[in-house]
Amino acid sequence: MNQTQIEQSIRQLAETQNLADEGLLAILSAPLSESEAGFSASFAESQPGFSASFAESRPGSPASFTAPQPGSSAEARRTRISYTPTPLDKALFSAADAVRQSYYGKKVFLRGLIEFSNYCKNDCYYCGIRRSNQGLKRYRLEETDIMECCRTGYSYGLRTFVLQSGEDAHFNQDVRQLSQLVRRIKDTWPDCAVTLSVGELDRERYEMLYEAGADRYLLRHETAAETLYRKWHPDGMSLAYRKQCLYELKEIGYQVGAGFMVGAPEQTAEDLLADLRFLQELQPDMIGIGPFLHHRDTPFRDAPDGSFALTLRCLALLRLLFPYALLPATTALGTIHPLGRELGLSAGANVIMPNISPGSVRGQYLLYDGKICTDEDGQHCHACLEARVRSRGYEIACERGDAVRSPRERAMP
Ligand code: SF4
Repeated sequence: MNQTQIEQSIRQLAETQNLADEGLLAILSAPLSESEAGFSASFAESQPGFSASFAESRPGSPASFTAPQPGSSAEARRTRISYTPTPLDKALFSAADAVRQSYYGKKVFLRGLIEFSNYCKNDCYYCGIRRSNQGLKRYRLEETDIMECCRTGYSYGLRTFVLQSGEDAHFNQDVRQLSQLVRRIKDTWPDCAVTLSVGELDRERYEMLYEAGADRYLLRHETAAETLYRKWHPDGMSLAYRKQCLYELKEIGYQVGAGFMVGAPEQTAEDLLADLRFLQELQPDMIGIGPFLHHRDTPFRDAPDGSFALTLRCLALLRLLFPYALLPATTALGTIHPLGRELGLSAGANVIMPNISPGSVRGQYLLYDGKICTDEDGQHCHACLEARVRSRGYEIACERGDAVRSPRERAMP
């Protein structure tokens, strides 16, 4: 694809929110500019609002991001990623940012993430809290602990709480306890949204939780390519059922979030295209993506991490295809690159999810190795993220942050 064709395709994407398969595949498979030769902040520094002094003084900044986790060459690799966007990526990011500003202005929404149980009955090959990981200390938070997390989060200005867990039979078989918790949160903070992310349930259970007041539901599909899904999951897990869950959640009335991994083993540009097409069919409100990051105690322990550059490119494509969507700059992005979340915002993301789980359990919800923000307390985490958002010229919005389906809605009270 030459520069003129690229510019034409991006213009068409921005105007029509669509592009033919060939165009999307050309963008997805175009060369990336990423190496392991040493971190470069040249792009970050050239962006409006970037503060070099902030970068030098914050934990996780280029200056301080030098200590790999012991015992893993992959973690060491992460510290040396050098990233400079290609002309294609620069054009994509600029178009994506213009679109997100027309829908959301400079606003970035915060979601207070509470990882309330790391038990899971499933055994996904890529996941650090999979059932077969015997080396993990398991925990479940008490309702009073979760309420305390919300109370603290509310005092920081958070107006969405995300209750996330593995597929824990303790909560998922009989959802009355979880429903009661949702009801309590909604009664205590009626101006807040509650998002659930507790995996696959049957319709009846989804309905009970919705009746209790849950507003949103996150269920990443991980990959929409059947062959790949089979390679990443053991027998007994089904892509068809996962998709069914997502459609049922929508029918019930939830604001729904799906999402996929970028760069997990054997994934191709065609597989990523399948993800984009599935999302176009589903039309979710939220789309969460992140690079595949390995975990040492999983069957995928030796697989190379996914590409940071390709994840940013996918984020920008998502913004252009789904202008209204709530797109998080995920913790995985911040883990693979010290300025990953900031660059994610510049590529079109408009959500950040500070972890407000108790410090005592944060280190036990490790879906992948080297996860950042496991040692900080909530206040530090919040202040750090706020500074990161400001460094990109955006502003934190202390509100629920529901999806805006058309630019006109922005003007409505
Ligand atoms: S990815 Fe989700 S369902 Fe799969 S093992 Fe991990 S927590 Fe469980």
